[in-house]
Amino acid sequence: LVRARNVHKAFDQLEVLKGIDLEVFPGEVVVVLGPSGSGKSTFLRCINHLESINRGSIEVGGEQIGYRFRNNKLEKLSGNAIAAQRRNIGMVFQQFNLYPHMTALQNIIEAPVGVHGESKAQAMAYARELLQKVGLSDKADNYPRQLSGGQQQRVAIARALAIKPKLMLFDEPTSALDPELVGEVLSTMRDLARQGLTMIVVTHEIGFAKEAADRVVFMDGGHIVEMGTPEEVIGNPQHPRTQAFLARFL
Ligand code: ATP
Ligand code: MG
Repeated sequence: LVRARNVHKAFDQLEVLKGIDLEVFPGEVVVVLGPSGSGKSTFLRCINHLESINRGSIEVGGEQIGYRFRNNKLEKLSGNAIAAQRRNIGMVFQQFNLYPHMTALQNIIEAPVGVHGESKAQAMAYARELLQKVGLSDKADNYPRQLSGGQQQRVAIARALAIKPKLMLFDEPTSALDPELVGEVLSTMRDLARQGLTMIVVTHEIGFAKEAADRVVFMDGGHIVEMGTPEEVIGNPQHPRTQAFLARFL
């Protein structure tokens, strides 16, 4: 579903991604680990074309993100075409970024109705299904300030799912939460994983990686240093940098 090849990204002189190669298959859950500044968020943002890449290519669902081939030449896509590609990709950030003046339900139907032209009735019915999925059936009419951090993040997950994405990107979805609220969000994510959603998850939750990941990727300094099953990468890391990173979680 995702094929990243030799992805390079620099901000001015600062090389942040130095040749990332990664394939993600339909239904797979890939957890990305790595120290601060290793390029994890930047890589996710490139997949969603929130950042453009300097070299290499990223395909999602067989389409090259941000570009297309025409008359044997690679040309940049228009804003509209990029927006169309993003419809296949849901993203959840560390900060939930819900619209404060909208209820949970309104937050969830905003993109389907406002951007994708779905009927309000249809979007609302699906939004209620999603709220149930994330365990918040009774919070449809609450505003974000009336919800806990964990509840807000679950609304944010429902909102990302509302566009029926083929791929979900999570960037440290539990890092901003009080420790006692982390579990409920991880459990929602585990459910999604079980239902076969394709997910790339940047997280420091090693337990989640062990249980829910099909594959674990360890990034450092803009490279993928090590990749394999959780048993391999977490249970028996080969690279000294992976070992040093994981030692912090023991
Ligand atoms: P963390 O675990 O702290 O979230 P990360 O692995 O997600 O780290 P990135 O956010 O991808 O790291 O950042 C990688 C590097 O790129 C950092 O040195 C950061 O300062 C730099 N960087 C990220 N975004 C920008 C930007 N828009 N402009 C300039 N530099 C940036
Ligand atoms: Mg980050």
